[in-house]
Parts: sequence; C-alpha cells; structure tokens
Amino acid sequence: MRFSALRILGEGLTGNSGWRPHWRDPEPKSDYDIVIIGGGGHGLSTAYYLAREHGLRNVAVLEKGYIGGGNVGRNTTIVRANYFLPGNSEFYSHSLRLWEGLEPELNYNVMHSQRGIIGLFHSDAQRDAAVRRGNAMINQGDDAVLLDRDGVRAHAPYINFDNPRFPVYGGLYHPRGGTARHDAVAWGYARGADQRGVDLIQNCEVTGIDIEGGRVTGVQTTRGAIRARKVGIVVAGRSSQVAAMAGMRLPIESHVLQAFVSEGLKPCIDCVISFGMGHFYISQSDKGGLVFGGDLDFYASYAQRGNLPMAEHVMEAGMALMPMIGKAKVLRSWGGIMDMSPDGSPIIDRTPIDGLYLNCGWCYGGFKAVPGSGHAFAHLMATGRPHPVAAPFRLDRFATGRGLMDEEGTGAQHNLH
Ligand SMILES: Cc1cc2nc3c(=O)[nH]c(=O)nc-3n(C[C@H](O)[C@H](O)[C@H](O)COP(=O)(O)OP(=O)(O)OC[C@H]3O[C@@H](n4cnc5c(N)ncnc54)[C@H](O)[C@@H]3O)c2cc1C
Repeated sequence: MRFSALRILGEGLTGNSGWRPHWRDPEPKSDYDIVIIGGGGHGLSTAYYLAREHGLRNVAVLEKGYIGGGNVGRNTTIVRANYFLPGNSEFYSHSLRLWEGLEPELNYNVMHSQRGIIGLFHSDAQRDAAVRRGNAMINQGDDAVLLDRDGVRAHAPYINFDNPRFPVYGGLYHPRGGTARHDAVAWGYARGADQRGVDLIQNCEVTGIDIEGGRVTGVQTTRGAIRARKVGIVVAGRSSQVAAMAGMRLPIESHVLQAFVSEGLKPCIDCVISFGMGHFYISQSDKGGLVFGGDLDFYASYAQRGNLPMAEHVMEAGMALMPMIGKAKVLRSWGGIMDMSPDGSPIIDRTPIDGLYLNCGWCYGGFKAVPGSGHAFAHLMATGRPHPVAAPFRLDRFATGRGLMDEEGTGAQHNLH
C-alpha cells in the first residue's frame, strides 16, 4: 500500500474503505537470524536498515507492549544536529541528513518540520560558548547563525528579555533543526521493516537471554523460546534490566523525564526555543498545543510518570521566559524512562558475549538519533564492524576512561547530563 495525494483523494471519495493495516501481526517463529529486543524508535530503525541496507530479512523485533508505547511516543520531538564534541558532532550530523530524506524513503508523512531551534544565552561568557559551538557546527557541515537580541525578538517578541536573573543577550539559531511527529516515526519505520519481511511481535516480553559457551543462542519470552544467532538489546530505559539477563552490569541509570502539552492555541511559536538556564524548552505542535519540558526528576526510577515538584519547576521556568504562557491551560503531562549514561553520550557496541549487541545511553536526546542509530547499529550487527560515525560510542570507555564524550562538561553524574 503506497501513500500519495491521489490515493488520499480516492479514499476520501470512496469512504476510506481501502486502507489496510500498516504492518502484519505475525506469530513468532522459533528461529531467526537476528532478534532485536525493543520496538521503540531505535529497535525499529535498526530492523528497517538491516533489511534495506544489508538484505537481512529473517529478523524479528520483540516488543513487550505495543509499537510506539515507549519513549519514542513520549518525547517532545526535537530533531537537531548542534553538538560540539568530535564523535557526537559527526553522528548527529549523519542522523539529521537521514531525517532529511526520511519521508520519501519511507513513503510516510513523519511531519518532519525544519522550523529552526534557538538556544538562548544570557551572558558574554555564554555568547562566547555559543560562538564556539556554532563554529563547530559549521565546520561539521551543519548550519548555525548567531542572533543578537533583536534577532531573537524577530522570532519570539513575547519573551521576557529583561528577566532580572537571566536577561536574554541573544541566541544560537540552528535553522535545520526542528520537530517531527514522534509516533509517525515509529509507525513509518515499522511499516518499512514489515514490508521488507521483518516480523514485528508485539506483547512479547523478553524474560531471559540464552547463552551457551560465551555465545548468545536466543531469548526466552512470554510467548515462548526463540533461537537467534544475533541479539540486539535496544530497550532504552530498561537497558540495565535486560542486560542483567545476560549477566551484564551496565553503566546506565534510569531517570524519569516529563513533558507537558497545553490546549490548542493559534500559531505563536514558529521555532523551538531552548532556555537552558531555566531548564525549559518549548515548541508548538501542528495542532496548536504548546509542547514543553524541562529537567529530569533527579532520582533514579522505572516509573513512567513524574513528580509534582518538577512539574511546578517547569511551569515556573515557562513563566520566567514567556509570562504570556500563564494564560494557557495544560491539558496533558506524562513521563518516560531515560537511559542516562555517565558522560551523556550513547553506546552502540558489541558486548563481551559473542553475538550480543547493545544500543543504549540515549539520555533525553535519542529521538533525533533514531535514523542514525538504527543505521549504525544495523551496520554493526550485519558486518561485525562499527559504522564510522558510531565508532566512538564504545561500551568500554567507562571502564578504561579513554574516549569519554562529556558534551555537557558535567562529569560522571548520570542525572546531570
Ligand atoms: C518527555 C521526554 C521528552 C524527550 N524529548 C526528546 C526530544 O525532544 N528530542 C530527542 O531527541 N529525544 C527526546 N527524548 C528522548 C527519546 O525519546 C529517547 O532517547 C528515545 O526515544 C529512546 O529510544 P527508543 O525510541 O528506542 O525507546 P523506547 O520507545 O522506550 O523503546 C524501547 C522499547 O523497549 C521495550 N522493552 C523494554 N523491555 C523489554 C523487554 N524485556 N522485552 C521486550 N521489549 C522491551 C519497551 O516497551 C519500549 O517500547 C525525550 C524523552 C522523553 C521521555
């Protein structure tokens, strides 16, 4: 089933009776070449690229709930390539280029909107840091524009520029940054993988990982045992729990991050605004809701809901940045479980167990990484060699101390990244 304007017109005229499910609902087979644990954005994109780039079709994605029920459907949808450190810089640049071709490639409207992102700064020192970051982005081939106060004002005249604690000096503008519709990204990759023969098995929780003689041989699930020559763990906030099934202790902590959506308003925010000093960021969805969030809840947890003090903190930060937001009603809030690594950068690597691979540590920035991560992880699982853009994301950097990528410069404290 291909989507096109003509098709939509035809279906509209014939009562929308011709649409079919976007993917099959197969029974799990007893044996696969590759099993991916986790049907979030990263697991689905990995399966898609395994099939598309490497011709591997005897692949299953095992998801304990439903496709899109994890962080991939809970995030605030910001897509950007504005990293500073070598390693991160190349990777996110690669991922953004994949985003830019994603809709025609998947034949799916993921509502990727390059509406731009402004990261505000509030002092001369922060301006210097923004200039440095902007230069790094330009050197990497991405885009960055330094805005003064009036430049920011042209986008967002309602900002409180003279906040006594954090007066706005300007912003670093990243025009190719923006947003996408999160669950459509999951559905688009799911459909693309399914079309290429991948089995997407929902309501199938992995409860054990089988290992014989140092080599992975399969998984135990709530729907029976499944044998596999290779297994990828791609379960975001559940990484430590699933890796423990293989006897591994990961350098990952799980923390809750919340998001909020207001009632629908007329268009008023034409880009994404990031107010780092207030731990607050905001954009406006295509339905008109203001989509915003802030910081982690600051304690480790597997609960997919957040606490009220952090909700209050986020509202206060929003009021400090743009007092007009106080008139809007919050309609919904929710939480997701973040897989926080000690240096704030991800892991895409083999494990000490033959045939067992690991993809995690995305912290609160893994949505924009979905295409790049799946692309690189599929390359690693199919060829046994790291993809050049993901080679620095090694698991052993936390044991050896070599190659750490502390983008925030906040040290080895998971909840600060
Ligand atoms: C509130 C919030 C805001 C965010 N904002 C942004 C943003 O603006 N930009 C950005 O880039 N990132 C953002 N993120 C982060 C981003 O959403 C995550 O980093 C990313 O989605 C994680 O990868 P995933 O999609 O594969 O995770 P998930 O969708 O969580 O996928 C993991 C899957 O594994 C499944 N699973 C777990 N255990 C098992 C098991 N034993 N067996 C089978 N399946 C299992 C889970 O059910 C889940 O579906 C945000 C996250 C949150 C919560």
